[in-house]
Amino acid sequence: MKLLDYVEVKGIIILKEGLKIGGTKEAVGIGETDNPIIRHPVTRRPYLPGSSIKGKVRSLLEQKYSPSSQKTGKPCDCANCFICSLFGCGNPSRGNEPPRLIFRDAALTDASAKELEESLPGSFAEVKTEIAMDRTKGRTITGSLRPQERIPAGAKFDFSFTMRVFEVDVPKKKEYFGKLAEAFDLIEKDYLGGCGTRGYGQVEFKTPDEKQPVSEYLRHLA
Ligand SMILES: [Zn+2]
Repeated sequence: MKLLDYVEVKGIIILKEGLKIGGTKEAVGIGETDNPIIRHPVTRRPYLPGSSIKGKVRSLLEQKYSPSSQKTGKPCDCANCFICSLFGCGNPSRGNEPPRLIFRDAALTDASAKELEESLPGSFAEVKTEIAMDRTKGRTITGSLRPQERIPAGAKFDFSFTMRVFEVDVPKKKEYFGKLAEAFDLIEKDYLGGCGTRGYGQVEFKTPDEKQPVSEYLRHLA
């Protein structure tokens, strides 16, 4: 397969709700809860892993377009749909074409990092305590308080992904960007990270000047 070009798409992720992507307890720093968010090991700043964004984009497209994923709940492995081309085939023995998409980790914008440093010094995160209710007694279950860290609403991240364009992709570029546009519209209706069914993870993807949705920009590329 002959590689022709790389198309880079940049943007800003804006958190409309607090967001949680879990880190490991082993990596907890002083003053952080044991239900931590993922952080850069040196700066301690939260970031959004490229793998989380990629996984969400892929799974939303599979829920819409991949009959095999809808049946099995697993990544598509048909080796001949646009999802397998863009993200890689779930079964390497069937398809070994290089995945077209590369998602980068999204770091806090400088302005957001500065703001959080001032409002939440050291941790860059808010702690939200969740409780479990006893439904028959109508009160909280003893010992059910769970402090959860999350990145507060309003935080912004620099985000980017790259599409590798091979010769065989030229006739399909329009379809690829069109489907990606749809995926970014879907994420905004869905959520990123954990606990999305209870007030976490609503996001917006905007162009770097924050004037246009990334989905709209992708439609122009299509
Ligand atoms: Zn497939």
